[in-house]
Amino acid sequence: MITGIHFLLTYTCNLECDHCFVYGGPKANGTFTVSRLRKTFDEIAKIGTAQWIYFEGGEPFLFYPVMLEDIRIAHDMGFKTGVVTNAYWAISEEDAEPWLRSFCGRLPHKNF
Ligand code: SF4
Repeated sequence: MITGIHFLLTYTCNLECDHCFVYGGPKANGTFTVSRLRKTFDEIAKIGTAQWIYFEGGEPFLFYPVMLEDIRIAHDMGFKTGVVTNAYWAISEEDAEPWLRSFCGRLPHKNF
């Protein structure tokens, strides 16, 4: 039973790790558009059992406005949402807080 879908929102990443299994990096291309994801969300909803949509990459925070809009749409459709990030933007609590403010009440707190 499918309970969640993980999207590689983009292959672009600010890092280029040797172990990266999606070959993400600064020169990697390919990012979902909002309209494509919206259509895909409609298809996911038809499955009936998928509750979670995760956004990862690459580094999804490099496309922050697109990621936020996708999370808003997924959330409004009733999906639970999560993001996988390398947290390059979280160099201090003070710097991280503005990036996270838009997610209040939308993302789960999950320790991996
Ligand atoms: S997606 Fe993750 S593993 Fe891949 S290059 Fe970026 S930070 Fe490294």
